[in-house]
Amino acid sequence: MIAPLNADLHCHSVISDGTLTPEMLARRAKANGVELWALTDHDEVGGQQRAAAAARAIGLPYLSGVEISVTFIGQTVHIVGLGVDPDDLALQQGLSRTRGGRGQRAQEMSEDLARFGIHGAYEGALKYAGNHELISRTHFARFLVESGVCRETNEVFRKYLTEGKPGYVEHRWASLKDAVRWIRDAGGVAVIAHPARYKLSATEEFALFGEFKSHGGQAVEVVTGSHSAAEYVSYAGTAIEFGLAASRGSDFHSPDESHTDLGTLPPLPQHLTPVWELLAHRIQNTLLNDPAPSAAIGH
Ligand code: AMP
Ligand code: MN
Ligand code: MN
Ligand code: MN
Repeated sequence: MIAPLNADLHCHSVISDGTLTPEMLARRAKANGVELWALTDHDEVGGQQRAAAAARAIGLPYLSGVEISVTFIGQTVHIVGLGVDPDDLALQQGLSRTRGGRGQRAQEMSEDLARFGIHGAYEGALKYAGNHELISRTHFARFLVESGVCRETNEVFRKYLTEGKPGYVEHRWASLKDAVRWIRDAGGVAVIAHPARYKLSATEEFALFGEFKSHGGQAVEVVTGSHSAAEYVSYAGTAIEFGLAASRGSDFHSPDESHTDLGTLPPLPQHLTPVWELLAHRIQNTLLNDPAPSAAIGH
């Protein structure tokens, strides 16, 4: 039997809410045995050139990526785009609009936390945001740990920043239809990220998958750092039911916070179509797809 490809197609750098640079992530992926990597920062493709170049320097095959925040029936859902052209103008404009409300939201989160006696959270969170346009709940979580309110970021998300808890502010992100269109029009494949994380009823989840598919979505994360082994099995079934390819990604953010490191997940269930089979022509840094240096000269 051929060993399954160790693909890790979901992680975050300092360009969004990770703590490592794209270069550090590339080296860590390679050291952990990753054979196909994608950096998927939230609502931002600003790290793509660095990630691709760092991967190229160490001979690591690379797919470009992004994770778009979407509001679906009042809830936040994440759609990963793989193999997108990071220079695509419509994608960049869509992402820029999606990022646009984060500053105001962060101010409101900070005001709400102040009502619960936690002061200076906006400034505190901003210190952790490598990209000020991308200030996120993760940066607030780091501030709440730093200031001793919680022991670790997971505890923060149990007690704060989530629906019904201090510091939560409702927010409207991109529509599902737009996110899938931006990804497809930029040459990529749209993937429903970590479906088990959403608090959707069975009917609502069916609607999510159905609408995603009708908009042109093609894949779902089956094996992710956010799923249990039982959830791998259940979303393998969903992939088959909806005729979707399957993706695999750790959703690694930080050596200090993430319980799943790059490249350490189990393989995809064998009967599924791996999403990278739809993206062979978009993989960078492989001998197959890289134009020979001489071919790029003089044209
Ligand atoms: P935002 O896009 O600002 O709403 O922040 C969402 C980010 O918060 C996610 O991408 C995760 O990095 C982090 N996050 C959300 N929920 C949790 C959780 N339960 N535990 C740890 N991190 C979480
Ligand atoms: Mn995140
Ligand atoms: Mn996510
Ligand atoms: Mn993620």
